[in-house]
Amino acid sequence: MVLDKEYTVLVVDDAKDTQMLLEFDLSAAGYHVTSCDSGEQSLALLENNVIDLILLDMYMPGLSGLETLTRIKAQAVSAQIPVIMLSASTDEDEVVAALELGAGDYVIKPYVAKVLLARIRTAIRLKEKTAQLEYLAKTDFLTGMNNRGSFFELSSNAISLANRAEQPLVAAMFDIDLFKQVNDNYGHDVGDQVLRSFSKTMTEVFRDYDIVGRIGGEEFAVCLPNTSCDDAFIACERLRSQVEKLSITITNDEGNELDIKITVSVGLVLAQDDYQTIDELLKQADSALYYAKAHGRNQVVNANTLINPVGIERDAIEVTLAAKDKSLSEQEGIGILNYDGIDFDIGVNNVLGDEALFKEILVMFYQDHHLDGQKLQSAILEQDIVTAKHIAHTLKGVACSVGAMDLFEVTKALDLAINENDKNDLDGLFSLLSPELNRVMKGIELHLDIS
Ligand code: GH3
Ligand code: MG
Ligand code: MG
Repeated sequence: MVLDKEYTVLVVDDAKDTQMLLEFDLSAAGYHVTSCDSGEQSLALLENNVIDLILLDMYMPGLSGLETLTRIKAQAVSAQIPVIMLSASTDEDEVVAALELGAGDYVIKPYVAKVLLARIRTAIRLKEKTAQLEYLAKTDFLTGMNNRGSFFELSSNAISLANRAEQPLVAAMFDIDLFKQVNDNYGHDVGDQVLRSFSKTMTEVFRDYDIVGRIGGEEFAVCLPNTSCDDAFIACERLRSQVEKLSITITNDEGNELDIKITVSVGLVLAQDDYQTIDELLKQADSALYYAKAHGRNQVVNANTLINPVGIERDAIEVTLAAKDKSLSEQEGIGILNYDGIDFDIGVNNVLGDEALFKEILVMFYQDHHLDGQKLQSAILEQDIVTAKHIAHTLKGVACSVGAMDLFEVTKALDLAINENDKNDLDGLFSLLSPELNRVMKGIELHLDIS
C-alpha cells in the first residue's frame, strides 16, 4: 500500500528491542519514525514536532502509559493526535481505561505487523476524515472563509480574551453595494465569482489574526482584536478602496470580455462595554452600515461617531417614515382601509371630495409612476441629470396632489439635491425614496384594479 504522504509515527517504549522492531516494520511500510524511551521525553517531543500518530507502551518506568496518555490528551498541541496503546497485558480493565482516556486503539505485544499497520492506517484515516468534516462545518463553501457559525464562535472567544487583557476590539460589517444588479445583469455564476474576488481581497487586507467571515449572502464581517478604532477605520477604508479598484473580468455569452466594478459599504464599531456580545456589536455595526447605504454607499461609517453631521433633513424624513410605518401597522388590526403612504383625505379634498374620481387618479398615478424608482436609479447611475430631474420633479408634484406626503417630502429633497448635483446625496436620498415609492404603489395595488 502506498501512503498519501509521509506520516510520522512517534514510538514511546522503554524496551530498545521493541523500538527497533517497530522502526523496522513501520519504515518498511513507508512511515517516518521517531522514537523515545519514556513518557516524559514523548511530551517534550510532542511540543516541537509534527506527529501524525503515537504508539504508546503501557508499562514504562517513570510516567506510566496511562499517565502519559492523560497528559497527551490534556495538552493542546497533542490532544488531537491518535494514540494506539501497546501492551503485553490482556487485562481488560486496562484496555477499557486506556480507551476511556482517549486512546484510539489497543494492540497486544507481540504484535502481528500486518494487523498493527492496518490499525495505524485506520486511525490516521479516521483522524483525517474528522478534520475534514470539522473544516467543512466551519467553512463557507463558496469563499473558503469562516462561515457564520465559525465567525461568531471565534469572535466570541476573541471578545473574552480582549476583555481579560483589557485590549480594544473592533467589529465591522461589509455589504456589497447593489449586488442584486450584478446577478440581474450577468447571472448568478458571475455573482458568485464576484463574491470570491471580494473575499480574496478581504483576506489579503486584514491580518492573519483578524477574524474574517461570510455571514450572509453578500454580507461579510471582521473582528479585529487589539485594534484601535482609528486603525480599524484605516484598514476598512483600505479594503473599501481596494474593492473599488478591483477589476473582475468575465467572459459573457457572446464571448466578449467584460470588466465588472463593485463597491462596498462598511459599518464598524468599537466595543465599549465588557459585556457586549458579538451579536450586539454587529447590530451596532449594521446601523452604521445602514447609514452608509442611505448616504451614498461606498463608504466606511463608524457607529461610535455617528452624529449625523449632514443630512439632518433626511434623518427627519427617515424618522417620519418609521413613525408612519408603525402607526399604519397599528391601524391594520382595526381594519381601516389603508392606502399605505397616502393620506386619503388630502387626496380626496384635492378633487373636491369626489372619491370615485380620486380612485381613478390613483390608478393613473400608479400606471404612470410605478416604474419611476427603476428609471430614476438608471438615470442617477448613468449621471443622466436631465432625465433624473424630470422624473423627480414630476413625481414630486403628483405625490403631493394624491396626498402621498412622505413620498412628496423625500422626492422634494431629491429634486433639490439633483439641482446641486451632489452624488452622495443623490444615492442616499434615492435609497429612501425607493422603498417609500414601493410602499405607496403596493397600497394602491392592494385596493384598486390595476390592469
Ligand atoms: P444594497 O447596496 O442596498 O446592499 O443593495 P443590494 O442589491 O446589494 O442588496 P439586496 O439585499 O437587495 O441584494 C442582495 C443580493 O445578493 C440578492 C441575492 O440574490 C444576492 N445573493 C445572496 N447570496 C448570493 C450568492 O451566494 N451568490 C450570488 N450570486 N448572489 C447572492
Ligand atoms: Mg445585503
Ligand atoms: Mg448589498
